[in-house]
Amino acid sequence: MKINELKDMFIAVADKIIQSEDMLTKIDLQIGDGDHGTGMALGFKNVKKELERRKIDYAEDVFKIIGMTLLDTMGGASGVLFGTVFISGITSRTPHTEIELQDFAEIFRKSLEALKKRGKAKCGDKTMVDAFEPAVFALEESVEKKLSLKEGTANAAAAAESGMENTKKYRAKFGRAKYFGDNAIGLQDAGATSIWLIFQEIADWVNV
Ligand code: ADP
Ligand code: MG
Ligand code: MG
Repeated sequence: MKINELKDMFIAVADKIIQSEDMLTKIDLQIGDGDHGTGMALGFKNVKKELERRKIDYAEDVFKIIGMTLLDTMGGASGVLFGTVFISGITSRTPHTEIELQDFAEIFRKSLEALKKRGKAKCGDKTMVDAFEPAVFALEESVEKKLSLKEGTANAAAAAESGMENTKKYRAKFGRAKYFGDNAIGLQDAGATSIWLIFQEIADWVNV
């Protein structure tokens, strides 16, 4: 995938998140404070603007612009966490002018480890990690099987979706949802939903 395609793909991801604001708000209202949709939509409106405006020489620049913009404009704990998802994966990488399935797997593996280190959440804690970790495993497994970018991104989206569905089964260990105890069971996590939306749009964009 060329840099311009990568940029266009993440502009499509930004549109997807912006369109999903109401859905994310509703989910966060049930076991959180209801600000997740607004925060994500605001962050990704700025991402779209910055991706369109800034000079991009390398694939890594795209991730950096997204991460820094989310960090600067989303605010709050989740701004830092979603910033980490995009920034931490590209630290100390040699710049690439094209990006393949293996690069996505490497970048998101690094981000996942940074996210887990920063947020201290593991799978089963009812957070975005529940969708992100299986998506990263699916990317890695697809690389090992020498699958195409289309297949690999579709596998990642499917894995993120089932990870998101799994959050319904758990009690929360973080954020306000923690205080809901057993009442959180049956309800889906907002951040995991955002991670799924991101991987689903990547897959949809690649598989047109
Ligand atoms: P806030 O919780 O500050 O209102 P948001 O509503 O934007 O922020 O985001 C909430 C989401 O952040 C949760 O649904 C969860 O997925 C994610 N989250 C919260 N705490 C953590 C953590 N420690 N590690 C990973 N993800 C987390
Ligand atoms: Mg919230
Ligand atoms: Mg909040």
